[in-house]
Amino acid sequence: MSHTTSPTARLMDGTAFARRMVEEAAERAAALAARTGRAPCLATVLVGDDPASVTYVRMKRNRCAKAGVQSRHIALPADTTTAQLVDAIGELSDDSGVHGILLQHPVGPHIDERAAFEAIAPEKDVDGVTAHSFAAMSLGMDGFASCTPGGIMQLLDHYDVDLTGKHAVVVGRSAILGKPMGMLLLGRNATVTYCHSRTTDLAAHTSEADVLIAAVGRPRFLHGDQLKPGAVVIDAGYNPGNVGDVDFPSAAAVASLITPVPGGVGPMTIATLLTQTVDAATRQLGAAG
Ligand code: NAP
Repeated sequence: MSHTTSPTARLMDGTAFARRMVEEAAERAAALAARTGRAPCLATVLVGDDPASVTYVRMKRNRCAKAGVQSRHIALPADTTTAQLVDAIGELSDDSGVHGILLQHPVGPHIDERAAFEAIAPEKDVDGVTAHSFAAMSLGMDGFASCTPGGIMQLLDHYDVDLTGKHAVVVGRSAILGKPMGMLLLGRNATVTYCHSRTTDLAAHTSEADVLIAAVGRPRFLHGDQLKPGAVVIDAGYNPGNVGDVDFPSAAAVASLITPVPGGVGPMTIATLLTQTVDAATRQLGAAG
């Protein structure tokens, strides 16, 4: 897909930067394997056969393979109960051959997703979904970032976006995206506003944003006329048809920096997952670096 940008908006190329991150993770994985005789291993857990989830897991495992990170896939039937899923994840948490665990979500509505997430040992929570990881993120402690917000922070840093004192508006407050995103921005001294489905007069908030994070899950939901001229616009949305939550042409006409969809936030999420898997393996195998 090609994008037309105005003279003002510069593209934030997540694909190129993620490639560099994955290369670096691959070098570290190879060095770790040479030192310890063991490669990092990510366990992926999938419940049911939702086509989008199957594709996401396959993409993550393919990227692992390219980076010298082993993956072990656990495919569970759609009628798996919460107790069965918690048991399966608990086994992976106890398995010293597994360094990171990814539960592909959403899981079915009959499953208590929070209970399943909490069965992931904190040191293996490379997707940053546990309460422990959220607290660490929020308190600025050592821990794994939720991968999409973590990847977005990397991208903001890569493009030298100074967050101190800036007004960041996060549209969306999900546990894996919007909420941790705001916490990471707050930790970097941005003034953070959360918007959600009950927010009244959304545009009044978005039009004040120096940094706008769209994490809504609605195609082309935010338009250029709702944005502050010169804003940095991060589109975390990924809707059917490779469409983001931001209307790209109108937003690019007013933004200073903008992420495309695809090729912006998506690749950064996977790169962050791989980086954090190598970090986890490095700590668990007791090898420095
Ligand atoms: P989610 O759990 O459905 O959360 C959506 C959020 O948007 C909720 O907080 C909701 O508010 C809010 N919202 C819904 N309608 C709204 C409206 N009219 N005005 C303002 N806020 C509204 O979705 P998610 O998991 O956070 O994902 C959001 C998007 O990011 C999706 O497009 C998803 O595909 C994408 N995503 C991308 C990646 C990646 O790697 N690129 C990773 C994860 C997710 P309430 O809380 O009030 O319901």
